[in-house]
Amino acid sequence: CGIVGILGTKPVASQLVDALKRLEYRGYDSAGVATLDHGVMGRRRAEGKLQALELKLKDEPLPGNAGIGHTRWATHGKPTESNAHPHATDKVAVVHNGIIENFRELRDKLIAAGHKFASETDTEVVAHLVTDYMQKGKTPIDAVAATLKELRGAFALAFLFAGEDDLLIGARKGSPLAVGYGKGEMYLGSDAIALSPFTDTISYLDDGDWVVLTHTSASVRDAQDREVKRPIVKSSVSA
Ligand code: GLU
Repeated sequence: CGIVGILGTKPVASQLVDALKRLEYRGYDSAGVATLDHGVMGRRRAEGKLQALELKLKDEPLPGNAGIGHTRWATHGKPTESNAHPHATDKVAVVHNGIIENFRELRDKLIAAGHKFASETDTEVVAHLVTDYMQKGKTPIDAVAATLKELRGAFALAFLFAGEDDLLIGARKGSPLAVGYGKGEMYLGSDAIALSPFTDTISYLDDGDWVVLTHTSASVRDAQDREVKRPIVKSSVSA
């Protein structure tokens, strides 16, 4: 229900949780974060309030200067830890708002191709579809481009890739997603409120857009994969 992503210059786990707290107003039943520490993906998830996730992070800290976070409002699959986002393979971690309407047919196809699913969510097909394209030789960016063309329904998505410390990809169709510009840091968030602790310089993706972020750049593409510019505005939300 709420999404945040950070390509940062210092540890991000607690920053992700702080941003998620600002999205609590949307309601949620579970939460989670994934980070990259020198290319190595780590993940913590918890049922219930963000406090449960914070306790877990206290017991088992998650290092890493890049990460994604999520508060979930379950639509497919019970509000359990294994259904909480991020959903991940050995290559990619994904957070998602909305519903993937054709997830059953995608899931059947991916299972037939040998993918092992670990949740009951519609979201997990996105992680496996990207992975499938990467296993066939596509780069992370091309794998996301191909995956987006197969998804039906409403979504905001954020992707983090193992071994790719300078890459964060976001996409939106039917659910909002904003890009935040920092100093040597870049952010993704469901809205400007989530990003207000980090930056007031925001760009809203148009419907069908997706964005490739590095620490110093944001490259927005439309649904036809053409590079496009979206206005960068000053948000009036104060931290
Ligand atoms: N459909 C997804 C799920 O049930 C995402 C729900 C949401 O927007 O939080 O896991």
